Amino acid sequence: YKANENILATENLTMDFDGFKAINNLNFSMARGELRVVIGPNGAGKTTFLDLITGKIKPTTGQVLFKGQNIRRYSEEQISRLGIGRKFQTPRVYLNLTARENLELAANLHKNVWGTLFKKVSKSERDRIGVLLETIGLGVKAERAAALLSHGEKQRLEIGMLVAQSPELLLVDEPVAGLTDEETENIGNLLMTLSESHAILVIEHDMEFVRQIARQVTVLHEGTVLCEGTIDEVQNDPRVIEVYLGQ
Ligand code: ADP
Repeated sequence: YKANENILATENLTMDFDGFKAINNLNFSMARGELRVVIGPNGAGKTTFLDLITGKIKPTTGQVLFKGQNIRRYSEEQISRLGIGRKFQTPRVYLNLTARENLELAANLHKNVWGTLFKKVSKSERDRIGVLLETIGLGVKAERAAALLSHGEKQRLEIGMLVAQSPELLLVDEPVAGLTDEETENIGNLLMTLSESHAILVIEHDMEFVRQIARQVTVLHEGTVLCEGTIDEVQNDPRVIEVYLGQ
């Protein structure tokens, strides 16, 4: 691939719900290796934006480019297989499986169909999952049922399940909502570690957390980019102050 090619870009992206443009002519791009945070007031279009990237909904007009490839017409399944993984706000782990089994299941998920879903993983895959368990801080709890993990540990396990599927771009929706300060910091550290090997786009409300992880912040407002910059730049931008005060 071209060295300067964006991992993700949208061009004049618009999502019109019966005359209401939830996403309005949005031009967005992020480079490979970037950890980007998207913030914006309620109703700014953040969830719709992720739904458009993952193919859950189809744009009215405009393009979504992943590694330069136009994925606008691809199904959710195809986009996921191409290498975009999405983590929803609430953890979706299998409570009666152990942490390790959850990761093994996730690793098998893209390798096809039901027969192979519970197949034993290969030695190299098992080693990879062992490393991943350490990365998400669950090495000592690998054989514990997910039901017995704390909320923060479940969040980390689900991020691990995403990574187990080997995506190149991780989309993470409000990962620290309802977490303790300590768990928030754990998630921040995990995302920063993962950003060494993945592009990551995080949607977040918690400004302290944004400050911990973000180098570049995009502010979304009324379905389009209001401004971009470092957290200090955007927090001091009069336009940003105005839309947040207006809430
Ligand atoms: P955010 O995640 O930033 O809070 P959303 O993307 O959820 O914003 O929503 C943006 C706007 O689009 C909101 O005003 C919401 O009511 C509207 N919206 C979202 N989905 C639909 C839909 N399926 N039909 C109509 N309006 C929608």
